[in-house]
Amino acid sequence: MNPLLLLPGPVTVAKPVLEAMLQPMINHRGARFRELLDRVSAAMKPLFGTGNDVYVLGSSGTGAMEASIVNCFSPGDVVLSCPIGVFGRRFGDIAKTYGCYVETLNTPTGSAVDPQALAERLDADGDRRIAGVLLTHNETSTGAQNDMAAMAPVLRRHGALSLVDSVSGLGAAEFRMDEWGYDVVTTASQKALAAPPGVAMIALSDRARAAVLKSRTPRYYFDLTKAREFSHEGQTPWTPPVSIVYAVDVALQRYHSEGMDAAFTRHARYARAVRSAFEALGWTFVSQPGAHSVTVVAAVPPAGLAVAPFLERLREHYGVVLSGGQAELAGKIVRFGTMGDIGEDDVLRAIDALESASRDQGGSFEPGAAAAAARAAFAPA
Ligand code: PMP
Repeated sequence: MNPLLLLPGPVTVAKPVLEAMLQPMINHRGARFRELLDRVSAAMKPLFGTGNDVYVLGSSGTGAMEASIVNCFSPGDVVLSCPIGVFGRRFGDIAKTYGCYVETLNTPTGSAVDPQALAERLDADGDRRIAGVLLTHNETSTGAQNDMAAMAPVLRRHGALSLVDSVSGLGAAEFRMDEWGYDVVTTASQKALAAPPGVAMIALSDRARAAVLKSRTPRYYFDLTKAREFSHEGQTPWTPPVSIVYAVDVALQRYHSEGMDAAFTRHARYARAVRSAFEALGWTFVSQPGAHSVTVVAAVPPAGLAVAPFLERLREHYGVVLSGGQAELAGKIVRFGTMGDIGEDDVLRAIDALESASRDQGGSFEPGAAAAAARAAFAPA
């Protein structure tokens, strides 16, 4: 049996999506690629919640984050970074790298950004020095999810450009870019879209497009003015990862045949079931109640359970691949991803393995306790 991959990305990819990559190469400046690219960007729009263009970039998610920074700001611009974990800090670091003056709004680990705290900081910026605000929709390192709807009015009232990393959020949780008024939103192929890594997507509001024209940050590969011009010809400025675009195309067809609301519900149900199982085994969570992610469960083991041997046992003996923690959480937590082409049975199989591996490490539970807790969470309310 193949190992069951339940990472917070890359995720399990369905066979038809993998098979799509076996198609022959086509001219990336020809009619067939144009149809493909148009179809992919049209299929992405509802996930972003936008009527604006969606540009497909040949890069991982970090490339799209960099694109958003270098196209929107100029050296010396003041940017308010609102990290809630590793990926939020990365966003701020990119802005610093390109010469922005980065101020940080700190949030305790495991919490979402407090909209009130954000409002206070922005309201105090009477002379509007803050040019942009950096946010992470879903923080993969802590399993915490921001309430993007709640922050939207606060951001609009101030008027700074709002840049959102939704690499591990889009497709799994609702995002209404146009309605909420976000300016730049980025995502990538290897998360909730359940495709292989290699493609990122970015959408810009009209305000962001105007900012692109004013930005003086040097850029070449990630110049979104070029991306826009070429996208209107059904092309990308540079040779695209054609095979990955084939895969994303099929993944999006599968996604939409399930339906967006059904996909949101699926991720939320899986995350709830996984949390219930971990709780039954005595684990706690990095994320705080009210801020739990639907795509990543970041779980803290009970005293005495060592993470590295636990993950190894899960992988080598039970064929279940979960992830450890990053940065200050390395060696301290286990992360279980709910994204990808996985069914309820896969989740239950992984949960049984969690219980068995916990028992192998000295834990003692009623047999089936974790799966019973998960099944109860799966049951309709
Ligand atoms: N942001 C978030 C929230 C992520 O989860 C990731 C990937 N784990 C990234 C950014 C970076 O994406 P990539 O690894 O595709 O560059």
